[in-house]
Amino acid sequence: MLIVLHPDVSREAQAVIEGRVRELGFTPHAISGAGRTAIGITGNKGPIDPGHFRELPGVADCIPVTAPYKLVSREVKHEDTVVDVAGVPVGGPDLVVMAGPCAVESEQQILAAARGVAASGASLLRGGAFKPRTSPYDFQGLKQKGLELLAKARAETGLKIVTEVKDTETLGTVAESADLLQIGARNMQNFSLLEAVGDLRKPVLLKRGMSSTIKELLMAAEYIVSRGNKQVILCERGIRTFETMTRNTLDLNAVPILKRESHLPVIVDPSHGIGIRSAVLPMARAAVACGADGLIIEVHPDPDRALSDGMQSLNLAGFEKLMREVERIAAAMDRAMHRVARA
Ligand code: PEP
Ligand code: MN
Repeated sequence: MLIVLHPDVSREAQAVIEGRVRELGFTPHAISGAGRTAIGITGNKGPIDPGHFRELPGVADCIPVTAPYKLVSREVKHEDTVVDVAGVPVGGPDLVVMAGPCAVESEQQILAAARGVAASGASLLRGGAFKPRTSPYDFQGLKQKGLELLAKARAETGLKIVTEVKDTETLGTVAESADLLQIGARNMQNFSLLEAVGDLRKPVLLKRGMSSTIKELLMAAEYIVSRGNKQVILCERGIRTFETMTRNTLDLNAVPILKRESHLPVIVDPSHGIGIRSAVLPMARAAVACGADGLIIEVHPDPDRALSDGMQSLNLAGFEKLMREVERIAAAMDRAMHRVARA
């Protein structure tokens, strides 16, 4: 249930309402929207009698919430959530592009990538330091050293950092360096990890599991938001289908459905979504055209020598071209490209 408060409700009255929710054994979640605050309730197994709240001072309305993913649903918050990634607004009017290599490989590689993607207009630098790989014999990432190199690239370029957190053991270390914590497709239903990032107050990029439904993605986001971390960005990155000509099938259907069902920002990863370098640009254009709030793109200064995902990585010139073309699609959608102010 959603308790809608009067616009001029006092702090005391709100505290009484929240206290009543707790007395009933449930959890209140304050949700601020334009010009009004509401209290979402979780923890109830069935419908709650609105009679518990209707007569309390400050209560304007009690509305049942039908979606199972309550706090992330549009039912509880009509306005779009804008996630603030260290000053970069994701989910607002501007399109945000995150770009960089699949993995941080060396100082020279990450600095070249960072300088290149910054010059083309990216706002965030991506790069895995802790890599979850299908084979234990594949490059597992530079780990702590990789985080230090990302921090160095941030200091030089002003780009904010998005990097993957692979497990709860390394979460503390990764959270110290990252501006945006990426939860990878393979971890979308790692509930301990979802709960642990839900306890932090740092933005999270939640990637859709490769065999997960849209509803499961929203339920995974609910795990994070129900612990109090409201800063979640959803990412469509392709799903497994019967198709074998592409690495995954980029499910752009998910974009309008997620935007309809949830107030959270939605970005698209066409690199993993199709897995073929020459096809990343057209799918990036399509993602923006169907309403994505941003893109995450794999870019490597020398893709043919990349230690992971070279087949789908653009070189710096390819990324520059992508940015120019995507900007035109964004303009057709009445959106500008977010730019980082540089000294
Ligand atoms: C990545 O971003 O490099 C990655 C491993 O992505 P995903 O979790 O979507 O496979
Ligand atoms: Mn990758």
